Amino acid sequence: MSDFVKNYQVFAITTDPVYIGTGGYTIGRVDNTIVRDPITKVPKIPGSSLAGVWRYYIVLEMFSKIKDDYRNIANRKDDNGTYKKVSEIFIDSSPGWITDYENNKYIRLKCAGQDDEPNKILDESRESKTGHCGHCLVCKGFGFSKKDISWQGMIYFSDLNILFFPVFTMYGTRWITTVEKLKEAGLNSNNSSPAGNKVLTKNGNEGHINLGWLYLEVDKQQHSVSLNNNIQFGNFQLNDKDIVIVPDNLFSQIVNSNLEIRTSVSIDPITGAAKEGALFTSEAIPRGTILYGNIRIFDKKSFVGIDNKLEPLPSIDELECALKESNHFFETLGIGGMTTRGFGRLKIQIEEIKNKNCDKTSPSPSGSGSQNNQ
Ligand SMILES: [Zn+2]
Repeated sequence: MSDFVKNYQVFAITTDPVYIGTGGYTIGRVDNTIVRDPITKVPKIPGSSLAGVWRYYIVLEMFSKIKDDYRNIANRKDDNGTYKKVSEIFIDSSPGWITDYENNKYIRLKCAGQDDEPNKILDESRESKTGHCGHCLVCKGFGFSKKDISWQGMIYFSDLNILFFPVFTMYGTRWITTVEKLKEAGLNSNNSSPAGNKVLTKNGNEGHINLGWLYLEVDKQQHSVSLNNNIQFGNFQLNDKDIVIVPDNLFSQIVNSNLEIRTSVSIDPITGAAKEGALFTSEAIPRGTILYGNIRIFDKKSFVGIDNKLEPLPSIDELECALKESNHFFETLGIGGMTTRGFGRLKIQIEEIKNKNCDKTSPSPSGSGSQNNQ
């Protein structure tokens, strides 16, 4: 039973401001607002955005391993009309998660994004030039919907919520969080939430501290957070002494008054100059924000028998490696809007598989997969 679903902790750090818009209604002086939690009003990265972008990045990663001649699906058959093997379509150094799953031979760029052929039946989609193929690791992993069958996929993405938020203080940058958020992320802290409008620091002797423009009293009781290298991204490591615990009711207030706000002007594509009257402001999650969420992969082996159209499904190992090895695109292409204005990049780390070996040979059952038991 425990192997039915695997849960993974995800930590991420924004290396650019990240803008994920709501389709533009205005709050206060900001024209383009970002997605927020409807109850706490704290900005977040919705799981649906993460899933959509990650789906695209796995397709890109797989395409980077396809031999040039086979980019076009029409060339993947031999002279007597049978499909070449997946191992022939991809370059020799391709990892196991690509070449061990035979259905990956049907992958196309259109397996990402919205399906433009949802009214085809699954069988026809396999060799169609456009639309989701309904057969490859991406379609099986992230889901698809065809005329005769809908499949919700095997990978679930939670929202990424802000765990540590950077603010300017007279002591330099500090990252605020709350006791509840630390607990949720499984980070060790025996503290209880600070009383009144006080905050907790590692020293406890600052007297007062400004968090942005808010000036708050520091509780003498020190916080006991110890991250033990848990929050580390490349050469950035969050230090215990840079963490400030604030009361739950102040968190949203502090975050929302310290977002990145940019003023931009629309460019007229014909003149290449600024358009008259087209000045607008946008807000974004600032660079250096640390987010937390989780991913779940469902082992749906037991579903396959119900509808054998779905056979075979990719293994959990293959999906883990697909996520791990496509993850680097978030660091270059990013997520959300205004990516041409220097927004959107972030580093994502999936804790349980960050050190997983995804080389050529398929992982052995003794790996981190879930082949044992029922
Ligand atoms: Zn597909």
